[in-house]
Amino acid sequence: MSKNYLKLFKDELEKIKGQRPKLLLHVCCGPCSEYPLVLLKEYFQITIYYGNPNIYPLDEYDKRLSELEHYLDILDSDIKLVIPSYDNDYQKELMKFGPMKEGGRRCAYCYARRMKEAYLYAQKESYDYFTTVMSISNHKNADYINRIGEDLYKNYGTVKYLYADLKKEGGIDKNRELNKINRLYEQDYCGCIFTYQVHASKKEERLSKLSIHKLQDRDKNALIAIFKDEEVSKTYMVAPLKDQKAEDALFSKIICNPRRFDGIYLEDRLIGFINEVESKDAAIEIGYVIAPEYQRQGYMSKALELYMQELNKQGYKVIVAAAFKENVPSIKVMERCGMKKIDKEEDIMYQGKMHHCLYYAKRYD
Ligand code: SF4
Repeated sequence: MSKNYLKLFKDELEKIKGQRPKLLLHVCCGPCSEYPLVLLKEYFQITIYYGNPNIYPLDEYDKRLSELEHYLDILDSDIKLVIPSYDNDYQKELMKFGPMKEGGRRCAYCYARRMKEAYLYAQKESYDYFTTVMSISNHKNADYINRIGEDLYKNYGTVKYLYADLKKEGGIDKNRELNKINRLYEQDYCGCIFTYQVHASKKEERLSKLSIHKLQDRDKNALIAIFKDEEVSKTYMVAPLKDQKAEDALFSKIICNPRRFDGIYLEDRLIGFINEVESKDAAIEIGYVIAPEYQRQGYMSKALELYMQELNKQGYKVIVAAAFKENVPSIKVMERCGMKKIDKEEDIMYQGKMHHCLYYAKRYD
């Protein structure tokens, strides 16, 4: 029978209250660490161990790591981060198990392998406690995880294992709430090549439903809603839409403007747009926006890639776009589409704040 991990966790926190011992915390990604870090940093001096060679491919591993780093910037605390080198042979180890449902023997091996590596690091560096955030996930078996932690302490034991079932007592809901606020990239597969393949075919199917074409009158409300979204207006420069008159004026200006302004559609729903900022000869500068609920799911990268191909077919040889320096997701979209940073940079005053703007371009021979 499994133990009451939540009670053991709470008892331990009660015991160490006010002492702030050193905790090595294994973290698999940013979104799984949001609530755990908020909770644990009150009790511990935390060092995160980002030991996740299970994440395939390497790009995805880097993406999750950069989201975690972004979250640590948001938290602005004294939490440290250790990043061991990526083990390229890890997938081969998992291959021995073959495809099987998530949560089975392969996963038990995978939790144990990563937790052991982190535990040994904690032991070498003389931490007081060790645990992992993985129990926050509904897909992870907290019993497996805690038994592994318990065995590590029994077998190697100088670093105390902190039992945890972080999803319990509303932990999972608190984590989701923080996710809505922080808007970290949330991956939709666990990590290994097996889960990646399932995810890749689902993603391909999702992205195949995208299209880009001219705006129609019926898109007005959806477009205005995108412009009025607070997150969008932080990075896409638009005058505040105070009333219906302003909304009508903006929409007719867009529809009547000879410059390009095309909608990005998921099936027949408008989810974003790409517009021409200016063009001269074979060079064009564009801007783009994707509604926040569709961000970080590959839609914007795919739409931009398709759009640039189309512009090139129409004779454009240089395609330029810009983003505020702090708008990291947008910069990543440009990079994913093969755009490179160019010399042009400028400071722009917007919403009462100075923003440094970076320019990227793709050149076609
Ligand atoms: S599904 Fe997740 S936990 Fe299971 S083997 Fe793959 S990466 Fe590891």
